[in-house]
Amino acid sequence: MKFNCPKHGCVEYVLLNGYAFGDRLLEDVMFQVRVDDKKQYMVCIDPDSANYFAQFNEKSWLMKAHEYMKGADLLECPTRGCKNDIAVDPWNEEWRDKKLFYDNDEV
Ligand SMILES: [Zn+2]
Repeated sequence: MKFNCPKHGCVEYVLLNGYAFGDRLLEDVMFQVRVDDKKQYMVCIDPDSANYFAQFNEKSWLMKAHEYMKGADLLECPTRGCKNDIAVDPWNEEWRDKKLFYDNDEV
């Protein structure tokens, strides 16, 4: 599944700011969030944040990011300078009806 930015259309992943679950410690540390074929979230560190993030316990924070995603609905477009909100919750029926998501075979 892929996401839909109101400005850019189909995007492969969305960005989660670590501030959402790590407070000041992870402020502006960005995580990439994807949805796999089974509609499960996959979270990894954004390469731009990897150097700073290396000092932390990666496994533990990725688990916290994953936990946070269970309640997330809007995240950021990954296109530089965009920062549009993107719907990320594929279980939201209203959003699904509005076709805010792309299936992998559609793109
Ligand atoms: Zn965008």
